[in-house]
Amino acid sequence: MLKRTLTHPSLIGFLITLGSLLAIGFFFIGDDPDPQEFEPSRSEVMAALEATDFHNALIPPLAPPPDWDQYTLQPGDRLSQLWQDEWHLPVSTLYQLLDGEGARFLNRIHPGQYIEWLASRDGQLLSLRIWRNRAEGVEWQRQDRGFSFNELSTQREIRLLRLEGTLNGILANSLSSMPEIAGQEGAIAAALDRHLPLRRDARDGDTFSLLIEQEWLSDDPTPYSTRLLAFDYQGERMQIRAARHLQDGRFYTPEGVSLIPPFSRTPLRKRFRISSHFNLNRYHPITGRRTPHHGTDFATPTGTLVVAPADGRILRGRYHAFGGNYLVIDHGQGYTTRYLHLSGFLVNQGENVKRGQPIARTGNTGRSTGPHLHYELHINGRPIDAMKVELPSVERLRGEDLDNFKQLSQQLFLGLDLQQPLDELALQLPQHGN
Ligand SMILES: [Zn+2]
Repeated sequence: MLKRTLTHPSLIGFLITLGSLLAIGFFFIGDDPDPQEFEPSRSEVMAALEATDFHNALIPPLAPPPDWDQYTLQPGDRLSQLWQDEWHLPVSTLYQLLDGEGARFLNRIHPGQYIEWLASRDGQLLSLRIWRNRAEGVEWQRQDRGFSFNELSTQREIRLLRLEGTLNGILANSLSSMPEIAGQEGAIAAALDRHLPLRRDARDGDTFSLLIEQEWLSDDPTPYSTRLLAFDYQGERMQIRAARHLQDGRFYTPEGVSLIPPFSRTPLRKRFRISSHFNLNRYHPITGRRTPHHGTDFATPTGTLVVAPADGRILRGRYHAFGGNYLVIDHGQGYTTRYLHLSGFLVNQGENVKRGQPIARTGNTGRSTGPHLHYELHINGRPIDAMKVELPSVERLRGEDLDNFKQLSQQLFLGLDLQQPLDELALQLPQHGN
């Protein structure tokens, strides 16, 4: 009798323990099916736990690590305006540079000068270079405290490459047998992939040709930069050719039609109060730690329809412990949007969506303090304030801009079609810093 009363509770205890182990196992499997994507460090977890409304910090961006951005100064450009509105860099950093060594180079910029910069994922300037001509420039580099300043001197050479291939599995594989671009297949495939509309229509056996610009510095065995200038894609379901507009960096068809779809300002049909704004420099009131808010929060009742702000493809729809039910749309051309804390999805992963199409309902899932929609816009892998950025609305180039684009793109297409030798073409293209 005594023995029985002892075994019963311990057996029940064992069953409860087994049950909770199974529940924990199930919770983890169901919660985060792709642990590689979400591997927050301990400090990140602590930061997120400390800050109940800093809910987006743990969901990493989707795009590859930030790359150098380039810009050629145009007549009428004002550095402070470009800095904030076009390049999305903190204006406080510009003031910091204007206060230090090398300020005279920033004060004396002029049209035609070539500027390049590297920013971190959260939009902080890491390096800035201003080229006086192709061989000489100046450079600022972020250090532990402030920026270092250096003069640069080098020989820069532009070479053009034309590649052609047949799609076989993923794009990078289709490029892997080309010795001219050894080691850069991934970057070139990513560039083409980014600029192809309706990638879902790509099929094995499709053919493509690419015009690629490589910049070489003297004494350097690998190219300093590689970028796609034009492409022609002939597929079973998709035939398209496009060229880069050298001023805005975007791709347009030969007729000047942008490959970027037009965007609505918000992904909601009605106006809702913004409960938290985009803020890269937000500090946690207690810890003093920088905890940027990479999106805009709309105070929406649970169940409010979320609509696609632009045409795109559903890249992901999943659950995450902090983001709750979340959805990612790839709009192509480096534009992605994300929606957090949803109560339900109205679309499936891989589905193509049109602007204005309902995609989900808002909710309060994940680490959220009340029903709302957290909405993010990323351009080339960096979170951007979707309420302030100039959104793509012009679907085609016009006037002088169109004339300039046509003049240049016609040359690029001649190169792409092998109707002009590439070394000749390289000399005719507008050169950086000249
Ligand atoms: Zn938010």
